[in-house]
Amino acid sequence: MMNATTNDDAIKTITTHYIDGAFVESHGRGVMDIVRPTDAQVIARVTLADEEDTRRAIAAAKLAFATYGHSIKEERAAILRRLHEAASAQIDDLTAAMVEEYGGVVQFAEPILQTGIGAFLAAEKALQEMEWTRSWDKTTVTLEPVGVAGLITAWNATALFICLKLASAVAAGCTVVIKPSELSSLQTRVLVEALHKANLPKGLLNVVTGLGNVVGAELVRHPDVDKISFTGSVAVGQSIMRDGAATMKRITLELGGKSPTILLDDAELGQAIPAALTMAFMNSGQACAAGTRLLVPKNRLEAVKQAIRGAMQAFLVGDPADPKTAVGPMVSQKQYERVQSYIRKGIEDGAELLVGGEGRPAGFEAGYFVKPTVFVNVKNDMTIAREEIFGPVLSVITYESEDEAIEIANDSKYGLHAAVIGTDAQRSRRVASQLRAGRVVINGMTDDPQAPWGGFKYSGIGREYGRYGINAFLETRAILEG
Ligand code: NAD
Repeated sequence: MMNATTNDDAIKTITTHYIDGAFVESHGRGVMDIVRPTDAQVIARVTLADEEDTRRAIAAAKLAFATYGHSIKEERAAILRRLHEAASAQIDDLTAAMVEEYGGVVQFAEPILQTGIGAFLAAEKALQEMEWTRSWDKTTVTLEPVGVAGLITAWNATALFICLKLASAVAAGCTVVIKPSELSSLQTRVLVEALHKANLPKGLLNVVTGLGNVVGAELVRHPDVDKISFTGSVAVGQSIMRDGAATMKRITLELGGKSPTILLDDAELGQAIPAALTMAFMNSGQACAAGTRLLVPKNRLEAVKQAIRGAMQAFLVGDPADPKTAVGPMVSQKQYERVQSYIRKGIEDGAELLVGGEGRPAGFEAGYFVKPTVFVNVKNDMTIAREEIFGPVLSVITYESEDEAIEIANDSKYGLHAAVIGTDAQRSRRVASQLRAGRVVINGMTDDPQAPWGGFKYSGIGREYGRYGINAFLETRAILEG
């Protein structure tokens, strides 16, 4: 057990929230320490919002919606461009904050922040291309903003989630109250200070940092919030659906995953294995889309094991600020312990440990570092193959036929992401088209800012990005003339 330590001289304090276009002192008095994951030092103290702060933010968003809800396409496009410009100017500070507060490796933090900031322009493009009005005979159908949106985010890429949800909401004509993960208070502050410079209409953007069961619950409960867009765990997603029903909330849920990577038998291992490991260990394994089940042909298992052992040399654990580091610390002591318990469970259940294992890597005793771990001879019904670990732990599972590979891939309560690796493009596409997941990538992780993101099954409800993301913040209205 490691306790966080404090050096009072060095710590930052945040006591305000962003409400109605200004940073205002918190009504809530609770205080939380922010702990740096690389060495467990307290680096900041944050005053947490209460229900009253949340209600003030909702009131500001409601008032702003009375005007912004009638904005035209050009106004929204101009705001999206200003948001993009304002956030772009702070990319270096944002990266530094994500590295320090979260322990995000710079290898991942920089591109993911680019994606987040790029979402403003991607939303503008989608906004311009969408058909906002359709008319026939005496009928006119228009797309209308749903109203005030509560945006609740997870800690593993908070700036991405904020930018993405905000971009879609703004494009749709909604005003927002954001509840970022309380573990991401410093990153959020850097981002909000940047967005403040975009000169937004007052009350369009409100950001209230506090606990989920206080601020998040008030957003879900409040009758003046029309929509919740949530990124986080299945358990909290389920409670939001349940509690949001009382006020008929529109709900988008981006939840967990246990994503399969199918290695076809014609895959070239020299490329396939590094690609599969990259998908497994991205964001130090703390990624909803991480490819944590690697499905390999049974007759190639020995070659796969050898290729994994070799390729692991490149997955260095270390200082997240070092561009060579692939795997940084876990975000918190709690997350460290969660990963340890799953590694232990894998061993107890009889999976074969190929690399990694329990404990901290040598030389990294101070922070929440874990060993990137690969298990082989995993059965798909073992706990480590079924539950989302949210750490750098990969399960290798063998299959005997293409049909069996598809069956194992789909045998999961999740369906967020999947990957196929092979050389025959036709065959890879055929396999991809049978996977029950919201996104399937062929031959490595690529991105398209207009492509939808979201899950089948327990991975969530609804989609984000591009026009799919904007649709989630819209109602459809038909006017029929007699
Ligand atoms: P979490 O569910 O614990 O928390 C997410 C957010 O919900 C936080 O801001 C938290 O304060 C808030 N919250 C907690 N209780 C609440 C309540 N009762 N009402 C309203 N809000 C409440 O999740 P986490 O630990 O922050 O994030 C990890 C999870 O997020 C993983 O399961 C991961 O797969 C998922 N995730 C999904 C995606 C995706 O795009 N699908 C992306 C990243 C992370």
